[in-house]
Amino acid sequence: METAELAALDREVLWHPFTQQLGWSEEAAPIIARAEGATLFDTDGNAYIDGVSSLWCNVHGHRHPAIDAAIRAQLDRVAHTTMLGLSHPPAIELARRLRDLAPAGLTRVFYSDSGSTAVEIAVKMAFQWWAQRGEPARTRFVCLENAYHGDTLGSVSVGGIDLFHSRYRPLLFDALRVAAGDAEALERTLARHGAEVAAVIVEPLVQGAAGMLLQPPGYLRAVRELCDRHGVLLICDEVATGFGRTGRMFACEHEQVSPDLMCVAKGLTGGYLPLAATLATEAIHDGFLGAHADYRTFFHGHTYTGNPLACAAALATLELFDSERTLEMLQPKIVLLERELAARVAPLEAVAEIRQRGFMVGIELAGFDPALRTGHRVTLAARRRGAIVRPLGDVVVLMPPLSIAPEQLRRLVEITAGAIAQATAGATADGGAGSRGGSAGRPAP
Ligand code: PLP
Repeated sequence: METAELAALDREVLWHPFTQQLGWSEEAAPIIARAEGATLFDTDGNAYIDGVSSLWCNVHGHRHPAIDAAIRAQLDRVAHTTMLGLSHPPAIELARRLRDLAPAGLTRVFYSDSGSTAVEIAVKMAFQWWAQRGEPARTRFVCLENAYHGDTLGSVSVGGIDLFHSRYRPLLFDALRVAAGDAEALERTLARHGAEVAAVIVEPLVQGAAGMLLQPPGYLRAVRELCDRHGVLLICDEVATGFGRTGRMFACEHEQVSPDLMCVAKGLTGGYLPLAATLATEAIHDGFLGAHADYRTFFHGHTYTGNPLACAAALATLELFDSERTLEMLQPKIVLLERELAARVAPLEAVAEIRQRGFMVGIELAGFDPALRTGHRVTLAARRRGAIVRPLGDVVVLMPPLSIAPEQLRRLVEITAGAIAQATAGATADGGAGSRGGSAGRPAP
């Protein structure tokens, strides 16, 4: 099919996620036909730098020969079999690999298929674990303001981004919310409600979907200590931060924190196939042991839980961290990214703040009227210049694949700077729409 025909059919039959369908047809979004490394190609052969790692998940680039080969080899064995009542080699080997890589104490791996389900599972595990320990009053969860843990009802319940979540409030359970980065606020909440709390859930170090909000150094460690002091579980959602994004394998490592439950997804398969895991301590796992008639079983499992192709892709992805020394090669690129942003993006009139942690970047544009959708217009301008970036409201996000070449990284920043300048030129020049010092842009898809 030709591009025009595909675009027409897209408008006729598809309903895109986080997308106002009414405006969709006017945008002529690229239809991606293939990819190579950090580059996406559309059906007309136009090339784009994948500036958001295909929604924060690509790690070693597209079409990596080792991951492609691992999936093909698994395809010759079995594409899918269930984990309910059966097991398979890639799931077993991957679980051991994850156990060995994860922060100390996380010894059990429970698979699912998206970040949201990994969180949903952690929440259910924490709840059930306490009930089975004879503390059924511990049913509540403490989460951070502006948190994002996914789109299913349980993960939305522990989320805190009004724009995404307030619409669904009547369907959600009630969580306790504290300001992110404020250990004293958490201490007060735990002092008051500790006996009802099952777990505290955090995105460690960076609140991604809130616009790359950074937590102060020491905060995560303080959260761990407060959880210990008040005897509640700590759930770390490493869905966005895991697998090298912050410069270490897991964000928890920066502060030597071991959570009781850890959620991973996105980069787990290198961005190839849907797979997630909830890692648990042996103590949590053992709390579910008992006779069948005791009903201590964890009653949860999806059809594609631990899919063999996805597990094979994940094993290859994790092996590449060693064979390509991914984290070591990443360090100078983190510095380069910081330097390029400081040189090209920071001086722009429209830019209020740049927040970077490793290969996670949020560029906050200064106080534009949300109705102008300035962040969105920046992404359209970037696209015309050859890069895919995606905004969170008026925060422009950069999350390139860890394997991106330095030259391409430079070009990504150059394109982003040009796109910001272009998209905000009118607004700042006439003084009408843009001004410095505005409030933080509310995230919007
Ligand atoms: N948790 C965090 C921290 C995330 O950033 C995301 C997605 O962006 C999720 C959970 C949800 O993951 P998924 O989109 O795979 O359901």
